[in-house]
Amino acid sequence: MRKRIDTRSAIILGLLGFAALLLPLAPTQARAAAGCGDVDSDLDGFTDYLECTGIPLTGGGSFQTTGQNVRDLFVILVRATPSNIPSSPFDPFALARNLGINIQVIEASAVTADRLVSPTSIQKAVKITEDLSTSVVEVGSSTPGIPSGRDEAKIYTIRIWQKLVEACPCLANNSCGTSCKATSGESTPATLYQLYIQNVIAHELGHLIRPLHYPYSSKLENHYQEGKYLIMERSIVATRNRQTGVVTIPISKVYGPEDIGNIKLLP
Ligand SMILES: [Zn+2]
Repeated sequence: MRKRIDTRSAIILGLLGFAALLLPLAPTQARAAAGCGDVDSDLDGFTDYLECTGIPLTGGGSFQTTGQNVRDLFVILVRATPSNIPSSPFDPFALARNLGINIQVIEASAVTADRLVSPTSIQKAVKITEDLSTSVVEVGSSTPGIPSGRDEAKIYTIRIWQKLVEACPCLANNSCGTSCKATSGESTPATLYQLYIQNVIAHELGHLIRPLHYPYSSKLENHYQEGKYLIMERSIVATRNRQTGVVTIPISKVYGPEDIGNIKLLP
């Protein structure tokens, strides 16, 4: 079967007027209370007993999760040297919080090379690698699938910065003031860069957990059409207001409710 690679398109700058944007609300989820027995209440591949007592990791040691009622997904983030992903207190998966699952960030050494999380579970960890290449067009790429699939997901952090500067050249010398901003208000070079990195990580992560957006379409692959202000859109289309000259970049912080309902972690 031909391998299909998702390539996150970069920011496209369009000369458009402003349009009203609607933020979808995450669905409320009711879950049955779970004990600490030998059942898997949240169906993430780890029994309630293990989630109560600690999940043994294939690389040694164990991991204490935060609850048996919420699915756990283990994610390995491989930083480049030097890394453009800010360290603490920056949370690289901040934009994945509304997925309705717990993102557990682990080191690559915590699991064996095949990314199998625990000897007692079939769940594999997802791996996302920071790449400093500038010879690529896209800002992120992955082979869509489920966590047990391929681990080729990459985020190109220098390309992410370059795409921001293409949309707003004044970012390069920090002279934009408030003339270039995210829809959610971020306007400094650092905050825009951080938000866009978070968005691309969240986007590629989405492709690794079913993949989102689901289902696949030949036109959009696993994406929404642009304009919904969702993480899983095909690309980000910046707009310049003709009257004010202000460029607005719709870097979304949310997945669609249907994306959340379509998450698949296990084979
Ligand atoms: Zn994509």
